[in-house]
Amino acid sequence: MTCARFRFYQELNDFLPPQRRQVEFEHCFDRRASVKDVIESLGVPHPEIELILVNGEAVDFAYIVADRDRISVYPMFERFDVSPLLRLRSAPLRQPRFVIDCNLGRLARYLRLLGFDCRYANDFNDDDVASISAREQRIVLTRDRRLLQRKIITHGLFVRATHPRDQVREVLRRLDLYALSRPFSRCTRCNGRLETATKSAIEAQLQPLTRRYYDDFLRCSRCGQIYWQGSHHLRSAALVEAFLEKPAG
Ligand SMILES: [Zn+2]
Repeated sequence: MTCARFRFYQELNDFLPPQRRQVEFEHCFDRRASVKDVIESLGVPHPEIELILVNGEAVDFAYIVADRDRISVYPMFERFDVSPLLRLRSAPLRQPRFVIDCNLGRLARYLRLLGFDCRYANDFNDDDVASISAREQRIVLTRDRRLLQRKIITHGLFVRATHPRDQVREVLRRLDLYALSRPFSRCTRCNGRLETATKSAIEAQLQPLTRRYYDDFLRCSRCGQIYWQGSHHLRSAALVEAFLEKPAG
């Protein structure tokens, strides 16, 4: 029998039952197990984890837990700087790109509105999301913690919020994405890049009133969708501004 003491920090506590949150607790098991397997058996998906200390020393996921170990587990994307210590991944994904689970369609559209590269389809299954993440080095955004336990996923975030606009704020805050946003650079429908289009080139596709009142247009390089600064744009601009307002503190 191996008995180790665990302490989880910050938002990793969200995955634990109430009596195990914010405290050190003992966990015993009777097999040889890696620290990754033990932590996941406690309910915490590995992509949420940035740093594991065993008796004060950083270890990787393959470390075999020994009897009487004291194990501290820190979350991915935590604000405090752990760089002097060994991180579990070689490098953070500096230009974050996402693959978004099938029930988070509005989150995908909002993140595209902010300019983030988001693969999303409402018929993605768990295999699709996991393999796209591994193949294209994309961060998984999901509300399914079992999906995040898949071995091939290295970067992922369990989205806590349930309302789409709160989900956007959560992702921006936890990944500190504010400086990387490029609003109105990407098609919210298909994720294609937007380019400026001359009015003459697209005139035939415009409704009469749009043709009369607007001169500046963007067109999706992938699906051809046309965007202009009409009332829809004003609503979107207000939304973008609200999203990018950093929370105080
Ligand atoms: Zn498009």
